[in-house]
Amino acid sequence: MQAPALQVRLSQRPLYVAGLLLLALVLIAAWPVTDFWRERQRILADAARMAVQQSQLMGRSFGDTFLATDYVLRDVIGRVDLAKDLTYPHPDTSTSQRLDTLLKEKITTVVGLSDLVLLNGDCLFVAVAMYPFRGTKSRQNFCTESHVTPGQSLRIQYMPQDKSVSQRPVVLISRIVGSAEGRLLGAAMAVIDLEYAQQWIAALAVDHHDVLTIVDTNGTLLARNPFQPQSLGRRTSSPSGQPSFAEIGDAATFIASSPIDGRERVFGLSRLARFPFVAIVGLDKTRVLAGWQRRAWQFSAGFVVLALCCVVALRAHLAAVRQAEAMRVLATTDALTGIANRRHLIDIGNQAFVHANHDGQALSVLMLDIDKFKSVNDRWGHATGDRVIQTMAQLIASTLRDQDTGGRLGGEEFAVILPATDVAEALTRAEQLRHLVQSSEVLHTDGTTMVKFTTSIGIASLMPGDGSFNALLQRADRALYRAKHQGRNCSMLAELT
Ligand code: GH3
Ligand code: MG
Ligand code: MG
Repeated sequence: MQAPALQVRLSQRPLYVAGLLLLALVLIAAWPVTDFWRERQRILADAARMAVQQSQLMGRSFGDTFLATDYVLRDVIGRVDLAKDLTYPHPDTSTSQRLDTLLKEKITTVVGLSDLVLLNGDCLFVAVAMYPFRGTKSRQNFCTESHVTPGQSLRIQYMPQDKSVSQRPVVLISRIVGSAEGRLLGAAMAVIDLEYAQQWIAALAVDHHDVLTIVDTNGTLLARNPFQPQSLGRRTSSPSGQPSFAEIGDAATFIASSPIDGRERVFGLSRLARFPFVAIVGLDKTRVLAGWQRRAWQFSAGFVVLALCCVVALRAHLAAVRQAEAMRVLATTDALTGIANRRHLIDIGNQAFVHANHDGQALSVLMLDIDKFKSVNDRWGHATGDRVIQTMAQLIASTLRDQDTGGRLGGEEFAVILPATDVAEALTRAEQLRHLVQSSEVLHTDGTTMVKFTTSIGIASLMPGDGSFNALLQRADRALYRAKHQGRNCSMLAELT
């Protein structure tokens, strides 16, 4: 039979300490993590506000060109006799020259205008400041409308390259005049080349990966910084998450990936007052969050180092606790049987003696010695003798209550401490144990023969005269001696002294 393996069970305390330490780490981390998250939201909100402000400034500045253009168009309309001047071809060449001169003068007053034109009620170019398109019919929407707003009204239309008379992508700003019946009487029209819009936007400073765009409310890209020639004049697909222009009111903000370059940006949108254009500013999200991200990494790295140190310290602590526990078990356990050794048994006995005296409770002790053990060894060999000792220990252990302690005093001698047990009950327990031993058997090392054995038991219960646990043990020992003399395999009560 093998000696029982030394089992080291850790007390729960170090595990609680480890759990608390982990909980503390999580709590320590949770605070700055929520702080970091709030800071990130604040930085993004600030960036969104800034993007909207920039788009408003950009829109206002871009809109100024349209405002100035409209003033010029009003002025031109005011100086023209719609009924008389706008016939084509005009019979009076001086009228044509006067109109041309007027348009040539006015075109210089607004930067960015590439042409100024007067149209008659049939939408024919009657007078032109720059390009020689007199007599050409305009392809603007209002030219095909059966009814236009009576009086003056402003029309703005993007004209792609293939529809434009000048064969260039342009924005047309027209002030049209309708009769009381809704018939077109004439119009003054200004042409803004997209190249101008592009030059204008290119002059604005942008940070790396940021983007500025002007689109019309149909989503046609009119200008972009950085320049992207292939997208200009085309309807661009808006980033997912962008509110539709019908929804945005004056301004809006959102975060989305650009369909053009795939970068995520914080966008600010603002609609130009009175004109169907939207100024869009996109700030590169990675750059916006760069500082925050660096701090977050630094914190995470610091925290991971701290956590690792804690884990290393905890492991060292648990190893030390486990070692101490192993030492304690080694020091208190009998190596052959796995039950308490002599020293531990005496310690427990001393404590039980103090408690019994303090509480006025009974205390009994059994002392056991295997009968004729020398002859077991002699007949069956030392190895089988060891098996007998181990079996004896197991039988003793199997009869113990929670409060009892059984141990090996040495050789084939054992003792059982029975707290709160009077002499009658101790005798019953001794007899039970003796019968158990008598009825058990041990397999000889040859693997076939069964070896039987018996034990003698001395019983002592605490008396007022017992000055120590040792005194009680000595009385039990004397009782055991008498049991041997009685012929062995019996239990004997100790005498009072
Ligand atoms: P009694 O009935 O009077 O007790 O007779 P006994 O033969 O048991 O006598 P005693 O108590 O003097 O014998 C103890 C023997 O136990 C002596 C020793 O050789 C043997 N012994 C002591 N420790 C061990 C051990 O660890 N293993 C084995 N196999 N034998 C041991
Ligand atoms: Mg002995
Ligand atoms: Mg013996």
